[in-house]
Amino acid sequence: MAKAVSVPPVFSIVVPVFNEAEALQEFIQRVSAVMNNLGESWELVLVDDGSRDASADLILKAAEKDAHVRPVLFARNFGHQIAVTAGMDYARGQAIVIIDADLQDPPEVIPELIAKWREGYEVVYAVRRQREGESFFKRFTASAFYRLINRITAIEIPLDTGDFRLIDRRVVDVLNQMREHHRFLRGMSAWVGFRQVGVPYDRAARFAGETNYTLGRMIRLALTAITGFSFFPLQLATYLGFIAAGLAILAIPVVVALRLMGSAAFFGQASTLIAVLFFGGAQLISLGILGEYIGRLYDEVRGRPLYIVRQGPDDAPVRRRKAAK
Ligand code: UDP
Ligand code: MG
Repeated sequence: MAKAVSVPPVFSIVVPVFNEAEALQEFIQRVSAVMNNLGESWELVLVDDGSRDASADLILKAAEKDAHVRPVLFARNFGHQIAVTAGMDYARGQAIVIIDADLQDPPEVIPELIAKWREGYEVVYAVRRQREGESFFKRFTASAFYRLINRITAIEIPLDTGDFRLIDRRVVDVLNQMREHHRFLRGMSAWVGFRQVGVPYDRAARFAGETNYTLGRMIRLALTAITGFSFFPLQLATYLGFIAAGLAILAIPVVVALRLMGSAAFFGQASTLIAVLFFGGAQLISLGILGEYIGRLYDEVRGRPLYIVRQGPDDAPVRRRKAAK
């Protein structure tokens, strides 16, 4: 059977979905209302990141009812950044909007992003003016994190931005070629350059459920960002080594002189123990930092696929595939 030739839509909305069954219907409704108002063609790429609730079924049902929906179902949970990556791979639009499914990023902001895109900007990122329903701890760690990144890396990531943004097709094509396994999309999209601009918005509270970004996941993402864009941690060992060696050169003559003069300073096990423990610790930390980089290097070298799709938008539905046998 010949396939119908489909014209690529102007806009693609890319959505990572993990256990969002409670919010999904409301989300699709609000996005549809906004997009239908624009009078241009659009598609909704819903990537199910191995949800353990009814999200995958809801996505398939939505696709059956609504031709705008392009379902991508992962074989298991691969994580937020990878889900967004898959969405960008499957998106066909001229401009791609990345937005969360939990309605923290209001779909009503999308037309503002599009307006900036029409002005000629290739990356339009949404800047959080205010964050509802997020703890002081989360806001504090987030702001400390961005300051650290901007300090120690060559790229400049705008403060208070997330992955909610519009990206032009040209930039998406570049990003899609960057197949690194440990992905920090905000950093990658700053790294590629192009004309970028921010649009302020108020981040809402989650529609339902709880954040999937636990402290552990946030630390892992921070490590990915730092190791992905900076050698600074590796250089720390060098700096520390020079400082320690410098101190030793200054301290050795002092200690020897004091000893010759019969002073009891620096005698005994305590001072030895402190020095050994300090440098033992420093060396183990340096080894650990090396390990972080080597582990990531190993992941890249193995060259496994970034994600595994259980069912893509162009696959025949599972039911029909069975009947055809
Ligand atoms: N998400 C995902 N895979 C995961 C975790 C999260 O696709 O392993 C999705 C989630 O459904 C949501 C978005 O990524 O659409 C952001 O996640 P979350 O709301 O938990 O993060 P937060 O907004 O608290 O940073
Ligand atoms: Mg959220």
